Amino acid sequence: MPDTIPLQDTTVYGPIPSRRLGWSLGINVLPSSHKVCSSNCVYCQYGWTLPGPSPERLKRAPQLLEEIAEAFRRHAEEGTRVDCITLAGNGEPTLHPDLEELVIGIKRLRDARFPGAAVGILSDATQLDRPPVRRALALLDARYMKFDAADEATWRRINQPLGRADFRAMVAALAALPDIVLQSLFMQGAYDNTGEAHVQAWVEAVGLIRPRSVHVYTVDRGTAAPGITETPREALQAIADRLIAATGIPAEVFD
Ligand code: SF4
Repeated sequence: MPDTIPLQDTTVYGPIPSRRLGWSLGINVLPSSHKVCSSNCVYCQYGWTLPGPSPERLKRAPQLLEEIAEAFRRHAEEGTRVDCITLAGNGEPTLHPDLEELVIGIKRLRDARFPGAAVGILSDATQLDRPPVRRALALLDARYMKFDAADEATWRRINQPLGRADFRAMVAALAALPDIVLQSLFMQGAYDNTGEAHVQAWVEAVGLIRPRSVHVYTVDRGTAAPGITETPREALQAIADRLIAATGIPAEVFD
């Protein structure tokens, strides 16, 4: 397994060929020197979330939108292929206080430069109890929400939510959010969420949330915690097939 990757050092990065999203132009609205996240996932490709506030000042929406406009202009002039624009980057994008303003601004810039590209977000789903976050999510074209654990104990062990997150409230909020795609990472080795009982509980929980579809995948980069290994493709496919058979919810495997 390769090492963890460095943080993104620009507001717009890529496009990167994503296994799940195509050519995705990433947007990082968080600091470039410090991961800012509401989770501390054992498999995070950026390494651990460090304790304490970021020493770097958070850029507010006007400055970020200026930088995004300039990067979009450059990519459009260079003829860059952009299938989608994704708020992701150095942590959890829903923690940014100007999220709604940013989503509105990014969609306006998208309309001008890449009208065919969907604007989406990768989120750990821990901030869904905040009305401004739900309003911002509703404005997006695509909502990819992390859902690796089917119960509180597994969630605390592998996603290690920080702050006041509550598992049952998060599941209820996910179920209330229309038109979402769940992204579920299955890992083995030092941390394993592929056991029979957990997969059965995960199928039942996804059945309650009723997302539009589910992306089933595994680690492909270095991880924060040592000893985590990939789940073989056949095992991922068996999990996806089990979900489809039990719930009728479409599930796709990316390995
Ligand atoms: S939510 Fe994403 S950025 Fe945050 S710790 Fe987990 S994998 Fe890393």
